[in-house]
Amino acid sequence: MIVIMKVGVGEEAIAAVQEQIEGQGLRTHLSQGEERAIIGIIGDKSVISADNLMRLPGVERIMPVSRPFKLASRDFHPEDTIVRVNECQIGGNQITIMAGPCSVEGEEQFMDIAYSVREAGAHILRGGAFKPRTSPYSFQGMGEEGLQIMAKAREETGLAIVTEIMAPDQLSLIEKYADVLQIGTRNMQNYALLKTVGASRLPVLLKRGLMSTIEELLMSAEYILAHGNPNVMLCERGIRTFETYTRNTLDINAVPVLKELTHLPVIVDPSHATGKWSLVKSASLAGVAAGADGLIIEVHNQPERAMSDGAQSLKPNRFMELMSQLRRVAGAIDRTV
Ligand code: PEP
Ligand code: MN
Repeated sequence: MIVIMKVGVGEEAIAAVQEQIEGQGLRTHLSQGEERAIIGIIGDKSVISADNLMRLPGVERIMPVSRPFKLASRDFHPEDTIVRVNECQIGGNQITIMAGPCSVEGEEQFMDIAYSVREAGAHILRGGAFKPRTSPYSFQGMGEEGLQIMAKAREETGLAIVTEIMAPDQLSLIEKYADVLQIGTRNMQNYALLKTVGASRLPVLLKRGLMSTIEELLMSAEYILAHGNPNVMLCERGIRTFETYTRNTLDINAVPVLKELTHLPVIVDPSHATGKWSLVKSASLAGVAAGADGLIIEVHNQPERAMSDGAQSLKPNRFMELMSQLRRVAGAIDRTV
């Protein structure tokens, strides 16, 4: 249930509504828009009398919210959430580009890629130090050494770092080095991990589970929000379908659907969505045209030697070309890159 206040109502009236709701043992969530405030009610709403609330000064109307996600929903929070990472305002007019290798493999490799993606105009550096691999015999990532290399690249290039956290006990270590925590597709419903990052001060990039519905993605975001972290970005990275030509199927519909349902920024990952570097350009342009607030793209200086995901990684010169095309598509929808 949400309480919609009249235009221009002051703090006192808002506080009185919150007091009445919280007095019944429920929680409130205040969304203060430019014109009016909306107060969300979280908890068992059967104890609340809508008639009593309607009698309070400044209340315009009360609306049921039937969706299971509350804090993530646009009803609760009509304005777009802007997630701030360094100078980037993710979810604003500018489209944020995150780029880098799938895995950090060594200092030379990572620095080289970091400088080339910065030169091309990327805003945030990606790289995995803890890798979720299908086979236990595949490269598992460099661990803390990988994080240290990323931190060095941040120092040298000024770009913020996004990296995956795979388990709750990695939080204190990763928080020392990273600017954004990535939750991988396989962990989208790892509730212990969601609660852990919900308690972190760092923004979270939550990737859609490879067999998860949009609603399940939003319920996972809800866990993070409900545990106190408001800075959540959602990532459409392709879902598993009957199609085998591509690694996954980019659910382009998910972008406008999410923009309708939630105020959280939406990021598209064209690399994992397609699995093939030759398709990354089209998927990236489509993502931006569909309304994504950002992209996360795998770039490698020597894809043929990459220790993970080389087949879907762009070479730096191709990434550079893509950036100039992205600027034009963004311009066509009155956005910038
Ligand atoms: C990655 O970003 O390299 C990754 C493992 O992504 P996903 O969790 O989407 O497969
Ligand atoms: Mn990868």
